[in-house]
Amino acid sequence: MTAIVVVGSVNADLVTRVPAHPAPGETVLADGMTVLPGGKGANQAVVAARLGGDVALVGAVGTDAFAAAALPGLRRAGVDLSALATVPGPTGVALVSVDDDGENAIVVVPGANGSVDATTVARHTELVAGAAVVVVQGEIPVAGTDTAARAATGRVLLNLAPVVPVGRGTLALADPLVVNAGEAWRLLTEAGRPVPEGEPFAVVTELRDLGPRSVVLTLGGAGAVALDDDGAPVVVPAPVVQAVDTTGAGDAFVGALAWRLAEGDALVDAVRTAVRVGAFSVTAHGAQPSFPTAGDELPV
Ligand code: ATP
Repeated sequence: MTAIVVVGSVNADLVTRVPAHPAPGETVLADGMTVLPGGKGANQAVVAARLGGDVALVGAVGTDAFAAAALPGLRRAGVDLSALATVPGPTGVALVSVDDDGENAIVVVPGANGSVDATTVARHTELVAGAAVVVVQGEIPVAGTDTAARAATGRVLLNLAPVVPVGRGTLALADPLVVNAGEAWRLLTEAGRPVPEGEPFAVVTELRDLGPRSVVLTLGGAGAVALDDDGAPVVVPAPVVQAVDTTGAGDAFVGALAWRLAEGDALVDAVRTAVRVGAFSVTAHGAQPSFPTAGDELPV
C-alpha cells in the first residue's frame, strides 16, 4: 500500500527569465534558458515525498532526450516510479517564462502525458485503490483522471489546474477540490454562476454547490480559503515572504496538502501547513528546486 498516489503529468520545464511577458505579436529577449524537471503531477509527487510522504506516481514520459531531464527530481525524492510508463514519442514539455515581478506565463505541450488515459490508469487500479489520498490534476486526458477518481477508495484531491471538463462523478468525489482564483472564476462562469471578484467566501460556497465534498481556494500571497463538508469557510493567511518566482507554488501547496491529509490532518489543519509550504516555494526560482524538504524551516 502506498499512502499517496499521484496520477498526473511529467514534463521538462524550459524556463526563461524575461523583463516582461511578450504581448501578442511581440518578441522579447531572455537572458538564457534552463531545463528543469516539472509537470503538475511530478511536482506534487516530489513535494509530498520530500516532506516525508510515501508517494507513487502514475504517468508517462516519452523516448526523447527530455525524459532524462524530467525524472531526476522524482528519483531523488524517492517517489515510486514503477507505474511510470515510457511511450514512443516526445515527453511533455512546459515553456515557462518568468518576469521581473516573479509572475509566470506557461504553455504546455502534453506529449507522453496524453497517453495517461482510462486504459493506462486502469492498469494501476490496485495501486490507486490502496492509497489514502489520490491526487489528480488537469494535465492528462480527462478519462484518465475520471478513472483514477473512480478507482480511489481513499480521499480524492482534485486540483483542477488547468480547468478541464471532468465527469460529474469525479467532481462529486473531490475532497477537496483545489483551485486558484482564475480557475475558480472559469469553473463558475462555465457553470453559469459567476461570482464578483473579491468575494472568496461566495466563491468557495458556489464551488461546493457544484458537487465536491470540500473546497480549497488558493489566493497567492493572501493564502487560501477552505470550506469543509460541514461548517463555514475558513481563511488561512499565507506567511509574508519575499516572492521571487511563483512557478510551482500551487503544486507545492497541493503536494503538501496531500501529505498532511494522508497523515490524517483535518482539512483546515492540512491547509495551514500547505500555505506555509507554498510560501516557502516562492522564495526561490523554479518549481522543484524551490520545494522544501523535511528538515527545512517553513515561514510562519
Ligand atoms: P502557480 O500557478 O504560480 O503555481 P497557483 O496560481 O496555482 O500558483 P497560488 O494561489 O498563486 O496558486 O499560490 C498557492 C499558494 O502558494 C498560496 O496559497 C500561498 O500559500 C503560496 N503563495 C503564492 N504566492 C505567494 C506569495 N506571494 N507570498 C506568500 N505565499 C504565496
